[in-house]
Amino acid sequence: MNFDEKYIERFWEKVNIRGEDDCWEWLNYKSPDGYGRTRYPNGGNMTLTSRIVYILTFGDVLDNMRVLHTCDNRGCCNPKHLFLGTQTDNIHDMENKNRAVHLPEKKKIDKLTIVEIRNKYNKRINTQQELSLEYGLCLQCIRNMVIGKTHKNVGGPITIANRGFNQYNYKNRSI
Ligand SMILES: [Zn+2]
Repeated sequence: MNFDEKYIERFWEKVNIRGEDDCWEWLNYKSPDGYGRTRYPNGGNMTLTSRIVYILTFGDVLDNMRVLHTCDNRGCCNPKHLFLGTQTDNIHDMENKNRAVHLPEKKKIDKLTIVEIRNKYNKRINTQQELSLEYGLCLQCIRNMVIGKTHKNVGGPITIANRGFNQYNYKNRSI
């Protein structure tokens, strides 16, 4: 990605640059979930500011990699607070920070939703991580659901645990 000097200069003008270990807040547009977002150069797509900071500082980032925060401040643009991870890391990170939604044991999740989740996983339409994000349930809940450890009798295809994946379609996907 080409970033011209003007773009880079204007980008950093929108960051509250402080001490080298402080959080550097993005001062411009943030999405409702608290992430700074801005356009890539030349009218490109809206992109996470953390990603742009990472690229400006350390170089290109592969499409399947995420730029994550060590400081848990989604609006932070301090390159020292950013690291590269996969979507899996992102979910584990969220779980560690208790942001992921856990399904309370007694909460009723409707049968059709469970069947839908099982079908999507069984047909390899989505990975467990994607289902976890889509339905707002923790990864463990999704895993237990698709292998029939929970909600045994509501229907939908049960997938055996730890099945292998077609490497072509599922490279970069660990679960
Ligand atoms: Zn920070």
